[in-house]
Amino acid sequence: MDVTLLPGFNPGPFTGAGNNTYLLTGSHPTLIDAGTGESRHLVALDEALAGARLEQVLVTHAHSDHAKGSLAVAAQSPGVVFRKVPWPELDGRYGVSWQPIADGDEIEAGDGRLRVLHTPGHAPDHVCLYDEPTGTLFVADLVVLGSSVVIPASRGGSLTDYLRSLRRILELAPARMLPAHGEPIDDPRAVLLEYLEHRQRREEQVLTALEAGARTADTIVTRIYPQLATSLLDAARENVLAHLCKLRDDGRVTSDKEAWELVR
Ligand SMILES: [Zn+2]
Repeated sequence: MDVTLLPGFNPGPFTGAGNNTYLLTGSHPTLIDAGTGESRHLVALDEALAGARLEQVLVTHAHSDHAKGSLAVAAQSPGVVFRKVPWPELDGRYGVSWQPIADGDEIEAGDGRLRVLHTPGHAPDHVCLYDEPTGTLFVADLVVLGSSVVIPASRGGSLTDYLRSLRRILELAPARMLPAHGEPIDDPRAVLLEYLEHRQRREEQVLTALEAGARTADTIVTRIYPQLATSLLDAARENVLAHLCKLRDDGRVTSDKEAWELVR
């Protein structure tokens, strides 16, 4: 598998140094994630293709830092096909038509095949793409080295699904993971176990806050992230909400409008 990392050139508070997109060259030139349409990304794509025709773009999920560049990529790559797991609420934003993919699909890409693993949680349409011969897993936003992933509970995220997706990838046991943000991950098992433990610790903090009388996501946020920068408050609130929804799925808390309560 011939993989070229093409940075998206879109650094920011939620994208870190910017997105990683990956070009697989060979008989089926394939781009994993479309970037955001930054001209430096488009130029780098053109150069890396070295005259070959881009055949398809596999978009890992409909968040704008992964999908927004689709129209710009389409404009410079006549005939390119865009594929993703459908998320009807967001897919229409990007001005291209999408060929649907689904869990278990095998897609010819580069000089090999990628298996689609539907891994919802961070987003309902989120996929990882697996190159079995090399054990390389394109993990998109499932994992970011040295950080945690936002589960936007009020915008399609589900912690219950996310934990299931993490366990599924742990079982798959890839040799390395190439994320959409940050550095490659050479010890997937250690990182996945740490991720699962991190969520377990957070869940305990949320339960402790509820036991101490906190009733809303905002109160819980102030208790467990006391020093948080304002710009990160919304993400923290979404994460706490994700934990509350997961605990509700587990039958351990109930909710009435904005108020949450332990089941005793
Ligand atoms: Zn995302």
